[in-house]
Order: sequence, then structure tokens, then C-alpha cells
Amino acid sequence: MPKKNARVRYAPSPTGYPHVGNIRTALFNWLFARHTGGSFIVRIEDTDTARTVSGAEDVILESLRWLGLDWDEGPGKGGAYGPYRQSERLEYYQKAARQLVEQGNAYYCYCAPERLEEMRSGQIANKQPPGYDRRCRELDPHKKSGFSGECPHPVIRFKTPIEGSTAFCDELRGEVAFENRSIDDFIILKADGFPTYHLASVVDDHLMQISHIMRAEEWISSAPKHVLLYGALGYQPPRFAHLPMILGPDRSKLSKRHGAVSITQYREEGYLPQAMVNFLALLGWSLDDKTDIISLQTLVESFTLERIGKTAAVFNREKLDWMNGVYIRSLSLDDLVRQAMPFLEKYLPDSVERPLDEGYVKKVMPLIHERAKTLREIPQLVDFFFTPDIGYEAGLLIGKKMDRQMSLNALEVTLDHLEKLEPFTHDTLEQSLRPLAEELELKAGQLFGIIRVAVTGLTVAPPLFETMVVLGKVKCLQRIKQAISSLSAYTC
Ligand code: GLU
Ligand code: ZN
Repeated sequence: MPKKNARVRYAPSPTGYPHVGNIRTALFNWLFARHTGGSFIVRIEDTDTARTVSGAEDVILESLRWLGLDWDEGPGKGGAYGPYRQSERLEYYQKAARQLVEQGNAYYCYCAPERLEEMRSGQIANKQPPGYDRRCRELDPHKKSGFSGECPHPVIRFKTPIEGSTAFCDELRGEVAFENRSIDDFIILKADGFPTYHLASVVDDHLMQISHIMRAEEWISSAPKHVLLYGALGYQPPRFAHLPMILGPDRSKLSKRHGAVSITQYREEGYLPQAMVNFLALLGWSLDDKTDIISLQTLVESFTLERIGKTAAVFNREKLDWMNGVYIRSLSLDDLVRQAMPFLEKYLPDSVERPLDEGYVKKVMPLIHERAKTLREIPQLVDFFFTPDIGYEAGLLIGKKMDRQMSLNALEVTLDHLEKLEPFTHDTLEQSLRPLAEELELKAGQLFGIIRVAVTGLTVAPPLFETMVVLGKVKCLQRIKQAISSLSAYTC
């Protein structure tokens, strides 16, 4: 494979928000462009107007930006081969379709939708493969057809050879051949003058001088149609690489249940773009079959088609969570604060005063830096640092192998000690509370467990003394007093 200036494209249809599989295609194309010092082109395939979803194009482009997949040519960027939205390029497709009709490679089809529908039901009833019956194939394009009354705006269909086969070389699979008789006389230009995907894709990949088409495996059955079109139009076809499928952990087709959700949802759930890129890169590509954490620079340096897998990739959500945790841990404290801030602002309870104090957030973050797997879970991990009142079940204040009175006593003595404690630091807390446990004839874990519940409301929380220092003396005393009164009133 020549390592020279590949021109590759990501060609999304704005028919919905881009999901994992979609963006994996974008990433592979981007990596290949960057690896070869070539160009990454974004082309919006919006010719299926009935299925276009408003706003989808913006979400697609925003997803690319979020992941850092910058494009050299495309919407908002321009380029020498624009426009990059197919709805703005109709003349090119119409010209190509006319050329094919003139050459005898395509023909006008006047069949009314009702006729096609009837034909289809007949085929299904007779257990025949569905497909156009080629009634209009031999009409003379220069004579008005007897059928023209049926449908005044004909479509144009490609005249697929009846015999033989069409083959191409897939960079990953080797030769792939399809029997021509399995290929329909497919429509290339619709009645409204819009092209179908097949024609538009071929014309654009040619005009935009695309060197490699890298796309999902589901498009492989379209490739012979494209090869036939390239041949008929006299174009040199690009190289093809159909990327392995992505399956769910149960090896069924990836679905919403497995995580085939839109990529923007991962952003909202607090995944870092760096982690997402690393994770997606490994869905069908590998560095050496064992390395999981791979920097962007290494990805770019090592991304060759040879290392794309031939078998389906499995989407493993736990692996993504683990990887995101690794990337969160690698953030500097300042970066973590910056990234976590919007999630805290949005998801901390309403009782917490806004805007948040960034200095305080910066003290809290080190306590959960090692534990957070997503930014979205940070607010739940730290909310007791912020809320004016922590609600919990008073029974939690009863220590292990202790009763209510013993626990109450422990809290009262602790309060007494802490009121006198100056300064209120990790070390003074340690020096005061460890001997106190002994004095009370308790295990340190028993006493600390009670204090933990009193100051955090939780049985599992970040390290106790650090937590208490960040909360501050005033708040700790206040919460311990609150715990004493809850436990005094506790009747169970
Ligand atoms: N518009 C197609 C899609 O939505 C592009 C397929 C291709 O890359 O040729 O995936
Ligand atoms: Zn027809």
C-alpha cells in the first residue's frame, strides 16, 4: 500500500445522529489521512430528502469536532472539489446519468409505483427474488415511450449486465465477486432529479479524487454496483476497504441496548474524547493485539490498513468505562476541574448554591480523581461536599458490633475532641482520633465508620481525614452534632 497522500472521505447521511459505528468509520478515515499525510474530506450525502433529519448535519459535524477529527475539505471549510453537500451538486449527477443513457448503459423507466408494488408482491408470493423486471430496458430513449403516460417523470435505471460477474479487490478481503444476475437494474436518478446513493457516491468519489473508500461492511453489496458505474462512466475506481462489523458482547448486531447510541450521548455521559478515540480505534484495528492505551500520536503513526482486522469487532462497554477512567486519571488537576465543572453545575442538587466555588471544587477533586470512571458520575461521588444537608438513615450511625448507646457515646466524645482540635489537618485528626478509638475500646475502623457516616452520609466515601479537612472544621462539627441528635431520636 503506497503511503502517499491518501484522499479519503467520511460521507455521512444526515438521516440521524451519528452512532458508534458511524464515527468509527470517520475515525479510521481520519487516521489514514493523517498517517499518509493526505486529506480527510467530509461530504454530506443528503440526497434522500425524505429521510433527512433536521439538525443531524450539525450534530455530525459537532461530533467530529468534539473528537478532534478535523477535516481538510468539507462543510464550513470549503476546498477545491466543493460543494461538499450532495444536494448542491445535482447537476453533476444529472450529467453523468444523461451520459449513461446516451451510451446505452442506462435507461428511462416509466413504471408507476403501483406497477412496481404489484410486481413486488407477485415476486414475494411466487418466492422469487425481488427486483425490477426490466420492462423499460429496451425502450429507445429518443422516442416517446408508450408507457410514458404511466409516469410522466421517469426514473433512470442502470442497465446491469445480465450475465457474468463483477469483481473488485477489497484491501482487507482480497477479491470479492458478485454474480451480475443478483444485481438489479438499480435506479441511479430519481423522478425528482435527485440521484440515488450509488450514482452520487461514484460521481463524487471520482470528482473529488478519492483514493481509498473506507466504509462499513454493510456497504459491500453496493460495491459491485459502483464498480459497474465506474466502468460505464470511464472512471478509474478508488481502492476499497470494507471495515469489519461491530457486534455487541453477545455477538449480535450492535444495537442501542449495547451502546450503539449517538456519540453525543457519550459526551453527555462524561466520556473524554481522547478515551473515545482510543476505544473506537480498537474496534477493528490493533497496534499489536495487546496494547490498549494508545496515544493519538501513536495511533496516527501506526495506522495502516494491514492492521485492520478481518473479523467482527466486539463493543465492550466495560472496557470503555475502564479506559475512560484511565484517561480521567491522566488529566491534570486543573484539566479535571475544567472538565468536571459543567457536570457539577448541571447535576449537583438544586440546594447547592450556584455558581460553584472553583477553588473549593479544586480541593474536592483530588479525592475522587482515582475513582471516577466518567465525568457524569462525579457529582454523585462528591455531592456531600456541597449540599447544605446530607440525608441518610440514622441506623447507619450504629457502628459494627456496637449498639445505639455505644455509638452515641463515641460520637459525643469525638465531638468533644474535635471541638478542641487546632489546627484541623490530616495529621492532627489522625493523632487525635486513633488514640480516641483505643480509649473507647473500639477498633479504628469502627470509630471511623461512624464518623464517616456522620460527616458524609455514606458508608463508602473518599479517605476520611482528607475528606474532613476539605469539608472544614465548622461543617464537620455541625454534621456530627446533627448525627448525635438523629441518633438520640432513633428508636429502632
Ligand atoms: N452515505 C453513506 C452512509 O451514510 C455512505 C456510505 C459510503 O461511505 O459510501 O454511510
Ligand atoms: Zn420501467
